[in-house]
Amino acid sequence: MFENYKALTEKDAVEYARSLPDLFAGDAELANREIGDGNLNLVFHIVDQKSGKSVILKQALPYARVVGESWPLTLDRSRIEAEALKQAAKLVPELVPAVYFYDDQLALTAMEDLSDHIILRKGLIAGKVYPRLAEDLAKYLAHTLFFTSEYYLDAQEKKENVRRFINPEMCKITEDLVFTDPYYNAETNSFNPLIRETVESIWRNHQLKREIARLKESFMTRTQALLHGDLHTGSIMVKEDSTKVIDPEFAYYGPIGFDVGAVIANLFLSFVSHEAHTQDKKRREEYQHWLLDTVEQIWNGFEREFRALWKEHVKDEMWSVPGFLDDVLFQALQDTSGFAGCKMMRRVIGLAPVADLESIEDPAVRAEAEIKALQIGEQLVLKCKSIQTVSDLTNLAREIL
Ligand code: ADP
Ligand code: MG
Ligand code: MG
Ligand code: MG
Repeated sequence: MFENYKALTEKDAVEYARSLPDLFAGDAELANREIGDGNLNLVFHIVDQKSGKSVILKQALPYARVVGESWPLTLDRSRIEAEALKQAAKLVPELVPAVYFYDDQLALTAMEDLSDHIILRKGLIAGKVYPRLAEDLAKYLAHTLFFTSEYYLDAQEKKENVRRFINPEMCKITEDLVFTDPYYNAETNSFNPLIRETVESIWRNHQLKREIARLKESFMTRTQALLHGDLHTGSIMVKEDSTKVIDPEFAYYGPIGFDVGAVIANLFLSFVSHEAHTQDKKRREEYQHWLLDTVEQIWNGFEREFRALWKEHVKDEMWSVPGFLDDVLFQALQDTSGFAGCKMMRRVIGLAPVADLESIEDPAVRAEAEIKALQIGEQLVLKCKSIQTVSDLTNLAREIL
């Protein structure tokens, strides 16, 4: 693998696309644009001006694009991403881009072009409502998590999957940037100087950090299901009637609540950001109401689908003990709360900011939203063991606003 690796230029990518079988005609007039806005990879969007046919080529770089060559990063993540996308395509084909093929020399995936969709985060910043979003994400979560778990798979097969999706370098990024660095004065942190006092109160909060240590341990040791691993609103593409999940390069086996928590954290970040983005009180309240409603529907839909899949497929004597499914879901909900809290705090204090907050221009106004994000994040972690229902989560956000 990767012996003949070379990062493609825009020109190389066009030639490469032209050589793909069954895609473009011999006389195709290919235009190419590198559209990668993520932190790590190259994404080429190649269109035949004549036929309108198009393809996306996503190529991993051997380092983190945001930082540069000083931060080397395994190309194996591209294999993991392609395999995770193919796995999801078997379970929920309508909710992921189709993978045409994976090139294990160039660390490159050719996939369906979703340019008629936009990144969910952008839609949320613009205050758009997506009527299908909650139902689609609930289905994505229930199916991808249930069918890759111990509850469905035979124990042998599940362990083989754990091995296939071992992803130590990407996990290390999460372990550092989500579960460690934001909670002490680490060099990687970068935050608005106006919120220093609140950040320092987090650094001093022993009880909070003890809970985060537990969550970190759970993330690192609990191989419950194949996670997407990076399910923020920048990894979801949407249009009015369609939802697609992209970018599972952090995929690995971990606790179910980690993916659910990632989605919910990002909806809560949007929720606080609209204090600044939407001036009109009535419109703001309506939008924030839709966001919290979406959070509740995602959890409720996830739970409903997961229960249905369980009822249909679970055969194991012990998994079938009455009440055990309730325990699994209860644990997942409490984990969702804790992981969502970490994901919110890290976006404010840590290395990778989110556009929802970053796009608030006035630093003082941004600070207000950031402090609310930190307060919600902190409470989600501190109270995670007393969460009973998803409305406990949304009420917590409501109260802090
Ligand atoms: P990274 O891993 O570097 O974050 P992503 O997979 O998130 O890369 O892709 C970066 C950007 O490229 C996305 O935000 C989106 O705008 C665009 N993109 C990625 N995949 C597709 C696709 N299949 N169709 C259209 N645009 C895409
Ligand atoms: Mg991305
Ligand atoms: Mg920051
Ligand atoms: Mg990525």
